[in-house]
Amino acid sequence: MFIARNILSKSLLQSSSTRRAAAISSQLSSQTSKLTHTHARTMASSIPKTMKGVIMEKNGGTEVLQYRTDLPVPEPKEGQILVKNDFVGINFIDTYVSIEITERILHEAASSAVRTSLTTNNSYFRTGLYPAPHWPYMLGRESEGTVVATGPGEVHSLAPGDRVVCLSEATYAEYTAAPAAKAARIPADLPPKTAAGALLQGLTALTLIREAHHVQAGDWVLVHAAAGGTGLWLCQLLKAVGANVIGTASTAEKVKLASQAGATHMVNYSHEDVKARVDELTGGKGVVAVFDGVGKSTFDLSLDCVARKGSLISFGNASGAVPPLAIARLSAKNVRLMRPTLFNFIATREEFEGYTEELMGFIVRDGMDVRIHETYPLSDVARAHQDLEGRKTTGKLLLDPSK
Ligand code: NDP
Repeated sequence: MFIARNILSKSLLQSSSTRRAAAISSQLSSQTSKLTHTHARTMASSIPKTMKGVIMEKNGGTEVLQYRTDLPVPEPKEGQILVKNDFVGINFIDTYVSIEITERILHEAASSAVRTSLTTNNSYFRTGLYPAPHWPYMLGRESEGTVVATGPGEVHSLAPGDRVVCLSEATYAEYTAAPAAKAARIPADLPPKTAAGALLQGLTALTLIREAHHVQAGDWVLVHAAAGGTGLWLCQLLKAVGANVIGTASTAEKVKLASQAGATHMVNYSHEDVKARVDELTGGKGVVAVFDGVGKSTFDLSLDCVARKGSLISFGNASGAVPPLAIARLSAKNVRLMRPTLFNFIATREEFEGYTEELMGFIVRDGMDVRIHETYPLSDVARAHQDLEGRKTTGKLLLDPSK
């Protein structure tokens, strides 16, 4: 067990150049066997013309989510694979707060630059915090299923019959035309639901602790919403690195779950003083990194808790968008501020493949836990969004597109 943990923490601490070299060599070996399709290939079993799916024709609350059974099955285009989805991952990015709150955030934004940055982000929320590129629009960012056809062009040796997990738009459906470059074969020994339960949030946590702030053994770090989907991954990975993790959560049940996942100290931020606890634990120095996916309601607290020369990694807006700030505030402690998105850490095939292989290894070899909160029927997507927005969930929410 000790040896396993040592190897794991070594692999988590490896430099990005070592990791990149490994990814490139794996890419080269896959190139020798790659299939470049000039015509679409299809599984023998017939693909229907229509499918179940959820679309939106306008922004709003959960009432805008329309469950339909008559949507056209998409055709895989250049570089795409057609995946028959078994499980679809739900992420906070899909839901966001209600349209009323969104509008208030935008009105409160003091400058047009903030509105521009919010509305040009490469993400599309149900509420319109970020605009949909077209109507009707289908939500969803990840799924697990079987390849049933491939489009023309480079499909990275994927073929009909392969079980894959992918990052793609428009996954709230039975079928998704996904970019092959963002799909990976699922290891044979991974049980159903695990890959869709892990991919987006696991990759987010892994890239945050490696590239946003490279956490080292012995570092003190603060993780907000530590019992959420991304939070539980951060706790597990940071424990493997050997960091001292101070987590925050809003209920006793969440505090317990995050502790079990690896947070060394937990603070219930619904009634405890986080700053006082951080000071007490770090001898007044503060934490070298804060991973803050809560946003508006925790940003000032995070800045208070970060150490001199530390990093504030603001990676999400669960409580609302962080209002504009005077950059001079950072100079009080020489704080590094970053607002990263996963998609810029895994933009190339090499980056996606390298990190995904590593993540799958943590699950298969090192036994990291993929906690599924609930698998909702696709027709019950509104309840799933309400639960996530209502802070009722821990771990991952999935959709079953067959129901
Ligand atoms: P979670 O499962 O973490 O759910 C969100 C959690 O945030 C809640 O359970 C709740 O935990 C906490 N929270 C605090 N205040 C609020 C509020 N006002 N409303 C709702 N929730 C609140 O979701 P995810 O793991 O999917 O995402 C977490 C964050 O990470 C989100 O902001 C998301 O956008 C971001 N993210 C960013 C990515 C990126 O690339 N930058 C990628 C993936 C996620 P508690 O009750 O304990 O406070």
